Amino acid sequence: MHRPVLGRQNQMNSAPGTYALILKSPQSMSVRVGKVGIFEFMPGYYIYTGSARGPGGLKARVSRHLKMTKPCHWHIDYLTTRMPVVAIWYSYSNSSDECLWAAGLQSNRQKYAEVSGLGASDCSCLTHLFFCSKYPGLDDFTANLGAANHPESIDVWRIHSRQSD
Ligand SMILES: [Zn+2]
Repeated sequence: MHRPVLGRQNQMNSAPGTYALILKSPQSMSVRVGKVGIFEFMPGYYIYTGSARGPGGLKARVSRHLKMTKPCHWHIDYLTTRMPVVAIWYSYSNSSDECLWAAGLQSNRQKYAEVSGLGASDCSCLTHLFFCSKYPGLDDFTANLGAANHPESIDVWRIHSRQSD
């Protein structure tokens, strides 16, 4: 099992903001996502966009995502309990931009494939979860966001995972 190790790069604080989790699936796996059903995940990377505006802001929300043992409440919990989060893109703002970030990913179909039916239960997006066969670069992503939707800055927190039993 992988366990996240908090790196020095973690400057994340409890302000509100938007984030994208980068998860890595080292092999094909079947994951039951609550009542939605069983999904087959190819090896590669999965990008999930979300936002945090509640108490504790980004830091509290992301800390929860990083726990591999927890009750599964949201769709994404069924993935974060099976696949390690290897990086997080995040940006502070008072607006919830996860739908804009999802639209940015959706606009580049050559690079990102939609995983339909997951993680967008509260909005009209097709999904907030995307597959990418190679480690996704932030530069490509910000280009896809477009100037109008570009936040002042997006930080990257790279998480070094280690094998543990
Ligand atoms: Zn959405």
